[in-house]
Amino acid sequence: MSELSKLLTQIRACRICEAILEPHPVLHVGPTARLCIASQAPGLRVHETGLSFNDASGDRLRDWMGVGRDAFYDESKVALAGMAFCFPGYDAQGHDKPPPKICAATWRTRLFAARPEFETTLLVGHYAQAWHLGRARKSTMTETVQAWRDYAPRFVPLPHPSWRNTGWLKANPWFAEEVLPYLRRRVRRLLRD
Ligand code: SF4
Repeated sequence: MSELSKLLTQIRACRICEAILEPHPVLHVGPTARLCIASQAPGLRVHETGLSFNDASGDRLRDWMGVGRDAFYDESKVALAGMAFCFPGYDAQGHDKPPPKICAATWRTRLFAARPEFETTLLVGHYAQAWHLGRARKSTMTETVQAWRDYAPRFVPLPHPSWRNTGWLKANPWFAEEVLPYLRRRVRRLLRD
């Protein structure tokens, strides 16, 4: 069994957050994918179905990337690894809680070290941007996404595709005009070669 397979078995058996949620780690990471999608934490539907981005946010992300579900879920080409692997529960306002930091602290460095480096990682939302970019991140998510040329092609920072960001998309038309054409070209190349 490869190091990656052993690690994935350990992650899928992880119960660190058992006291605050029902653990059900969801991630899709194979040894050959050249593209990774790093997001935040699974929503309830993803947690229940065991399939990342199996929701309206996923539909919008696939549209941004210019791919259908078959390509998106082809684990030989695309890896999906959020900043936490289990649904973190709801806060008092009924919104998903942030990804528990213990998850990335326990697993993330080991997971990325257990396989070849991804050629491009999509950083979906500010939690993934903070972890992967560190001090290279700008002071806001908008500024970080706007500076995408500084990070590409290794990283492409994106807003979260949640319906909550529909207002952000309308207020920032440069995202659809500049970032999405590059994103689609890059994804097409990584999935085709
Ligand atoms: S969120 Fe991460 S650390 Fe917590 S139980 Fe799930 S896999 Fe383990």
